[in-house]
Amino acid sequence: MYDLLLRHCRLLQTDQTIAEVDIAVEQGKISAIAPHLPGNAKITLDIHKHLVSPPFVESHLHLDSALTAGEPRWNQSGTLFEGIEIWRERKQNLSLEDVKQRAIATLKQQATQGVLFVRSHVDVSEASLTALQALLEIREAVKSWITLQIVAFPQDGFYGSSQTEILVEKALDLGADVVGGIPHYELTREDGVNSVHQIFALAQKYDRLIDIHCDEIDDEQSRFLEVVAACAIRSGLGSRVSASHTTAFGSYNNAYATKLMGFLQRTQINFIANPLINITLQGRTDTYPKRRGITRVKELWQQGLNVSFGHDCVQDPWYSFGRGNMLDVAFMGLHVCQMTGIAEIDACYDMITRNGAKTLNVEAEYGVEIGKPANLIVLDAKDRYDAICRRSTVCYVIAQGKLLARTEAPRPHWYGTAVC
Ligand SMILES: [Zn+2]
Repeated sequence: MYDLLLRHCRLLQTDQTIAEVDIAVEQGKISAIAPHLPGNAKITLDIHKHLVSPPFVESHLHLDSALTAGEPRWNQSGTLFEGIEIWRERKQNLSLEDVKQRAIATLKQQATQGVLFVRSHVDVSEASLTALQALLEIREAVKSWITLQIVAFPQDGFYGSSQTEILVEKALDLGADVVGGIPHYELTREDGVNSVHQIFALAQKYDRLIDIHCDEIDDEQSRFLEVVAACAIRSGLGSRVSASHTTAFGSYNNAYATKLMGFLQRTQINFIANPLINITLQGRTDTYPKRRGITRVKELWQQGLNVSFGHDCVQDPWYSFGRGNMLDVAFMGLHVCQMTGIAEIDACYDMITRNGAKTLNVEAEYGVEIGKPANLIVLDAKDRYDAICRRSTVCYVIAQGKLLARTEAPRPHWYGTAVC
């Protein structure tokens, strides 16, 4: 007898085709997939030919600042830099309980909407490392239903104070999974370059992944991506490296961008674009024409590089909106990046699912396949286009073989007169 049996699924398979199958789960793993599975289960769900997909992957989030919009004041200019100033004020009042409560609320909100893998940056600029301690506890507390990766992120710059470099290393000692950085916010270009070199050195010393906030500015002279690319090529770290944002890439002249693209193809690094936040943060110093402030998502994808989309901020000093829904992210992404061809729409769905899994280096445990952990979601949708178009409800979330959440799709009642 199976533990769980899902009947009449439209399964989005690893090769991206859709198959009508039953899916069985035993001891937390997918034990069988076939057009019709005989036998019984402790729990049987009729999926009614809805889309079954691997879960959403949130590849770029800030859990420590989530749900603080307006505290202590609103971001009036809407810029990245005012956001950093506001967060500097807010983080003086962090406590373990404050961070844990907001982080868990955000993770539950995401998980009920189908997110089961999350990479969160955590600000390690403060000597107390309160936010880090809180998220390390949360990572442990939620591990039976969500995989949380923690990035040691020096929000005020790797060299923002004489202590920050030490704090980043301490965070890795304490168990952060990923080394972060913000070279475009260092005091000088030289500091920015040095910070990237130091991030790679720490990643090698501690055997950790890398995820750098890189060139999140409209300045076409912000060119730390080339430094990340050079370090990735020389170190051979390749797919263990992610460049987040890279919005300046959208402002580079085409001659430079073309040369850079060739280097990037040699690196095999991952790119994370955050369309919800960057369409609002960037372009603030432009008059008109006003830039979109997003990296060259379509071109990177066309060149075969791995690109994922992140939500980035959920109601915090940088982005006052967001409900943790990755379909909202894909929807905004395809608009801002003009990815409206059907293959491009499907690619945007991949950017919130399997591409994110590649970025997080969790591919071995990701995907609806026999033998893998039973992490999957059921959407009120026929296919990837339908899911994004209607921002479909995630009706069921199965995490590690157990039913984690269920949401009813809205069913409007029509009281008007019939037209014909
Ligand atoms: Zn970020």
